[in-house]
Amino acid sequence: MSEITVNTEWLSDCSGCHIAIVDLHEKILSVLQAVKIQRCPVLTDVKGYPKATLGLVSGAIRNEHDRHAALEMRKACDIVIAWGSCAVFGGPAGAGNIHTPAEIARAVYLDNKTTISAHPPSREVSPLESVVSPLDSAIEVDLYLPGCPPHPLFVFEALSALVEGRAPEVSRRSVCAKCKRAMEKSEVAEIKPHSEGIPNSEQCFLSQGYTCMGSVTIDRCLAPCPANGVPCTGCAGATMQVLTEPNRDIRTEIAERMSRLTRIPGEEIVAAIERGAKSHYSYTMASSMICRKPTFHIEKWIRDEESAYEAGNLS
Ligand code: SF4
Ligand code: SF4
Ligand code: SF4
Repeated sequence: MSEITVNTEWLSDCSGCHIAIVDLHEKILSVLQAVKIQRCPVLTDVKGYPKATLGLVSGAIRNEHDRHAALEMRKACDIVIAWGSCAVFGGPAGAGNIHTPAEIARAVYLDNKTTISAHPPSREVSPLESVVSPLDSAIEVDLYLPGCPPHPLFVFEALSALVEGRAPEVSRRSVCAKCKRAMEKSEVAEIKPHSEGIPNSEQCFLSQGYTCMGSVTIDRCLAPCPANGVPCTGCAGATMQVLTEPNRDIRTEIAERMSRLTRIPGEEIVAAIERGAKSHYSYTMASSMICRKPTFHIEKWIRDEESAYEAGNLS
């Protein structure tokens, strides 16, 4: 293949996805024999959008600048890849959809106890849009690479597919498929916060009372978290089953599995996940495939939680 020219752009995100691009370093040459990176905010000082074969866009659409940058990338690049869970699903910034831009500005600039001379943003700050949305709400996307950030194995598979002119493999497996922990029936009767106790290293977290999200999360990572003693928090986004089937939902799927493995009633598990909705849905709540589900009432769950907190009824 002749030389591939690449532009990258980051929208509203944490910059981790761009560090992951740098981490690919010369390994990328094993897939693309000749790559010329033209525009990349962490590598080059190119402000414009030169014509390119490939465009990698990380981050969500949160403000007017994001939308403008996404449109410029689309005009300049033959193929646009939504790079990482923020671009694909909206990512953690999606938690902002629970609040209005005015509430967010007030919380960040005026009511922030660590800001000494608080004042609202000047006109030079790009205005927030009313909601956070994934990249494909602004432009057409050719390829989706979820992951926080995308794992090199799946990046190389996607790039090889592009070079060979075939569709990349799409996994329908969940993180559980790569996890070596054993799902076994236990006598556990209470949900545990992730910070509590020292989990058994061989047993499934669900069997131990921890709300691991591996069974509802697409495998884009080879399950490093459960292998290292940490429950999955769903950073690669939901499985195809959860995304595409209207009545399958993160909380009901986990509750069904966990209640079979423990003595914890399913309703208790559902209620606990709703109370922690901003965490359990943190990567996907801005995605229309999740937030338009008939069973999805995240604003109510969070309002109920905040009312209970204000009334001092939180355990
Ligand atoms: S997907 Fe994860 S690593 Fe990438 S920008 Fe979003 S939060 Fe950061
Ligand atoms: S739920 Fe979590 S701990 Fe259990 S098998 Fe799946 S990934 Fe592993
Ligand atoms: S195991 Fe879960 S939280 Fe950990 S990297 Fe994979 S998807 Fe993300």
